[in-house]
Amino acid sequence: MTENPQQTLLRVFGYKSFRQPQEEIIEGLIAGRDVFVIMPTGGGKSLCYQIPALHRAGVAIVVSPLISLMKDQVDALQANGVRAECYNSSLTEAKARQVLAQLHDGTLDLLYVAPERLMSDAFLERLQDMAIALFAIDEAHCVSQWGHDFRPEYVQLGRLRQLFPRIPLIALTATADSQTRQDIIERLGLQKAACYVAGFDRPNIRYLVTEKHKPFDQLRMFLSSRQPGEPGIVYALSRKRVEEVAARLVQSGIAAAPYHAGLADRERSQVQEAFQKDELQVVVATVAFGMGIDKSNIRYVVHYDLPKNIESYYQETGRAGRDGLPAEALLLFGYGDIAIARGLIENGTNEEQKRIELHKLNAMVGFAEAVTCRRRVLLGYFGASLDHDCGNCDVCLDPPERYDATVEAQKALSCVYRVGQRFGMGHVIDVLRGADNQRIRSLGHDRLSTYGIGRDMSADLWGSIIRQLVHLGYLEQDLASYSVLKLTTAARGLLRGEERLVLARPRHKQVPAKKVGRDKVERPRDEGLFQALRALRKRLADEAGVPPFVVFSDATLTEMAAARPVDAEGLLAVSGVGVHKLGRYGEEFLTVLQEYAAGIAPASA
Ligand code: ADP
Ligand code: ZN
Repeated sequence: MTENPQQTLLRVFGYKSFRQPQEEIIEGLIAGRDVFVIMPTGGGKSLCYQIPALHRAGVAIVVSPLISLMKDQVDALQANGVRAECYNSSLTEAKARQVLAQLHDGTLDLLYVAPERLMSDAFLERLQDMAIALFAIDEAHCVSQWGHDFRPEYVQLGRLRQLFPRIPLIALTATADSQTRQDIIERLGLQKAACYVAGFDRPNIRYLVTEKHKPFDQLRMFLSSRQPGEPGIVYALSRKRVEEVAARLVQSGIAAAPYHAGLADRERSQVQEAFQKDELQVVVATVAFGMGIDKSNIRYVVHYDLPKNIESYYQETGRAGRDGLPAEALLLFGYGDIAIARGLIENGTNEEQKRIELHKLNAMVGFAEAVTCRRRVLLGYFGASLDHDCGNCDVCLDPPERYDATVEAQKALSCVYRVGQRFGMGHVIDVLRGADNQRIRSLGHDRLSTYGIGRDMSADLWGSIIRQLVHLGYLEQDLASYSVLKLTTAARGLLRGEERLVLARPRHKQVPAKKVGRDKVERPRDEGLFQALRALRKRLADEAGVPPFVVFSDATLTEMAAARPVDAEGLLAVSGVGVHKLGRYGEEFLTVLQEYAAGIAPASA
């Protein structure tokens, strides 16, 4: 091949430049070296082996655990004119025979195979006398028991390195922790591989954390601040909650559906497919949803409940904005959730496991409570630090105001003391605010010296103060017994007036979506034109029986709507338009662009 990787990137995929380590990885593989790539979801792992597949002689064998993922990748490659197929249990017998024939004729650039198929004796036999460009092992953490998704059928892949000593092997994963990474290297025999950790920062995702008070209203507010039809995922902890939130969204006129492990396979794949095809706007899901989806235009991920650890949180939020356009990750953080999560962990039997999980939960809580840049906290956790504040998280955009809260803290602490350190936050606040209810009267708490001393402030404000006192170690919350508040020894100095205390003022307003933009990723776009292009994309995708993003990504349509090309050359200059897609779709998109410019409304949107 006379083309260089950069030229292939432009001609086939329509992209102008590589992302950070892609080029080096690609060159290494083409030169025949093993590579280990750790990049978060959406980082751009696929190109790392797809381009070498086109540059090395023979077929590239790609191992992937999920049939739906394989299909999407193959659809996307075929749409770019690449000769890719998959070989798995979903094929009809005739189709399987055809794929094998192509494999033997040497007319395939890439073949996606399920691990158990690849490692069967019959298949390995076939590969023996065949030109193989490389092996790519996607979702490589599935080989490790330390990982979060161990698959026994992956273990066999450890033999590849010995069976095909001269063929380069690339393993890819989004996993973060070093124990799993080490395990992957050992099990796949990648000791000599060059290792790349990259792309953990996703600057286009805006991280937002809001205190949870009325979660459904908060969710609805958030959705109503967005453009109509923008797709997103809402994660909730239990099946019951998933069902409930989805039903309420449907009632409010939003195309939403639930997704959890309790649904029949068929139902689940229907939801997944409708979402891929942009027919469903919101999927409300437990963590079960996401592994099998490769949708690049997810505009937001909302965590309705507190995730169990930062790894899952980051992986789930990472499903937003894979096309590089602005996206948002909203976490509704409720203190009640901590107790629930802790309870679930403590139900476990393995002590060591419990210790690890509690530690991870604490890190998650620490993130949610942070009053420093969220992205710094996240990247720090993954060992990829950031040396500046990100400017695209709620803390950066709306820094909490600080004030001297010594007097308020003293009132709260003495009230906890007066009620005998036997009550939770709600009751303490009631006493502070002088609530007149039967419970207070029957306990005689309306005669306490602290009764009503905090009337001048809202219950929310008192809640925020008490929580901060907990985080700062002046109060402790007995999670085993109804979250009863107790003073710690640290409270003494504060109560005696020996020290002063500065707290952050709570921020109840949500940072409005897209208020402060990062001009790097935000381009003005003509919404009408964008919608017209989107309608065309949907029609073409349906005709071809593929998800819309296989035709063009949202990023490509956005750029098209902003650049408004008038000819093939102009269209080719748009990122994501390669030579093949130009030939296949160019004319129809140019027609819509021309009609729109001439003021002709699209035939049907
Ligand atoms: P991963 O497999 O790491 O989750 P993908 O390989 O699916 O991520 O890439 C995510 C998105 O980024 C895809 O839409 C892909 O086409 C796009 N992408 C990858 N590399 C580039 C690049 N160099 N320039 C522009 N877009 C890219
Ligand atoms: Zn920030």
